[in-house]
Amino acid sequence: MQIPPAVLEVHQCLKGAGYRAYLVGGCVRDHVLGKQPKDFDLATSAKPDQVIAVFKKVIPTGIQHGTVTVLMQGHHVEVTTFRSEGDYVDGRRPATVSFHTDVEADLARRDFTINAMAEDPATGELVDPFGGRDDLKAKLVRCVRDPLERFGEDGLRCMRAVRFATILDFEIEPQTLAAIPARLDVFTKVAMERVRDELLKTLGSPHVARGLELLKRTGLLREIFGAEDVDPDAVARAPASLRLAVLLRQLKAKPDRLKLSSAETEHLARLLAERVPAERDDVGLRRWLSRIGTAVARDLATLDAPELGARLDLLATHPLTLKDLALKGPDLMAALGTGPGPAVGKAQRFLLDQVLQRPELNTPEELRALLAGWKP
Ligand code: ATP
Ligand code: MG
Repeated sequence: MQIPPAVLEVHQCLKGAGYRAYLVGGCVRDHVLGKQPKDFDLATSAKPDQVIAVFKKVIPTGIQHGTVTVLMQGHHVEVTTFRSEGDYVDGRRPATVSFHTDVEADLARRDFTINAMAEDPATGELVDPFGGRDDLKAKLVRCVRDPLERFGEDGLRCMRAVRFATILDFEIEPQTLAAIPARLDVFTKVAMERVRDELLKTLGSPHVARGLELLKRTGLLREIFGAEDVDPDAVARAPASLRLAVLLRQLKAKPDRLKLSSAETEHLARLLAERVPAERDDVGLRRWLSRIGTAVARDLATLDAPELGARLDLLATHPLTLKDLALKGPDLMAALGTGPGPAVGKAQRFLLDQVLQRPELNTPEELRALLAGWKP
């Protein structure tokens, strides 16, 4: 495992100041698996104000949860005080967090055994109170302690269990799996944004078909979308960026519920509403591109008519929108002999229609000539 020098330096500084400090969570899991971690999280016995006192530059990112970001050698290193969580309210957030001086208390609040290990990056010492290493070997996603309780505290953990099983290509340990359907009432309270993020990670995995099977089998899919009639292999065949669209199409579900950005929601809604046209001559395809936009058209072709891809790429270089017309506002008005008014828009739509039929007409001279013979 390549540990960034900045992370080692922060670890060293905390130890040098007399505190305990470990790598925790995903990076330890990935290291034991022999994978290069994406990011490195440090946990420490130092309280947030003590962490701040050790370093010159610190951003108090989530100080009420014990997290600060240390700026070290131009890198951002997250340091979180060992903490446990009080009772959960409403299946989403703990009512209180309390800080601890032993790493075991911190590991005990984590979701799965494979995510509940700590490693000293200087010595390689592994703290593994819940058998995470054995579960990694057995390829099992297993809750830390009682699954019914853990899924009852935070409903998102159901989605996370499926996400990790999918991405790692692991099984969900039977008791953990059985606890998901039993806790769907808590799952429904989770903010859709958090559910969506886990779903998108699952859909991005090469093992997405297994993920969808799990989402279906556990009842999660029906909770999220109100439907569960999926063809997991068909979703898996689509490129990762289009799997959500395929899933929504199969489930006949609207994208709105996922609380994506309005641009993404709009794009998905159009993908679901439109189809590749039956008329596939150049003029027909240019009109279609003009109406639905090249991005939506390309995605639809990828899904339903891949043989059209190269042709659409070429046609997309033609003038397709009012903005592409070679005669712009003032010149257009001069050619019409009018000022601003409804005639201008009408003229533009006329010209665009001509240009969609014959792109080579899109020069100022040709467009002026067309206008000469046009009546508003
Ligand atoms: P990835 O590599 O995908 O980031 P990760 O394990 O780092 O995986 P994160 O969502 O970044 O996952 O969370 C970091 C760690 O925090 C987890 O490994 C786990 O120990 C803990 N954790 C995160 N979310 C929860 C949760 N909802 N309940 C309990 N522990 C959690
Ligand atoms: Mg992470």
